[in-house]
Amino acid sequence: MKQKFSGACLCGQVTYTAHCAPVIVAQCHCNECRRLSGAGHSVGAMFAADAVTVSGAIREIEYTSAQQSVVTKVFCPTCGSPILGKNTGSPDHVTLTLGTMDDAGDLKVGVVIFERDAPHWDTLGDDVMRFATQPDWSPDP
Ligand SMILES: [Zn+2]
Ligand SMILES: [Zn+2]
Repeated sequence: MKQKFSGACLCGQVTYTAHCAPVIVAQCHCNECRRLSGAGHSVGAMFAADAVTVSGAIREIEYTSAQQSVVTKVFCPTCGSPILGKNTGSPDHVTLTLGTMDDAGDLKVGVVIFERDAPHWDTLGDDVMRFATQPDWSPDP
């Protein structure tokens, strides 16, 4: 397992480095993760907080979780990319978003949480057309 992970937001203003291996990688379908990601779930890797450094200007939002802990989501104020999450229920850890990592190829999802809230369109069946990249295709008028 790699012991160093780096990442950046879409516009490149926020970067981060984690100098350890993650504790766990979780895919979460909760209401807040769906709204923050704009998709049906988020995927985050939990790291020891003291092993993670973030540089660049950030913005934060806070909300209270179902367990009454305070969750802080950190994002880039310029491009909006979600960078990491913190939770007062686990104050020694931060969760970095896998989609912003430069190379998360060594990692795999270890747990799915809030599966009851997973939208049906986030678990696509075999009957959906797939393209390796953006296709030369547009919807019928
Ligand atoms: Zn950005
Ligand atoms: Zn969530």
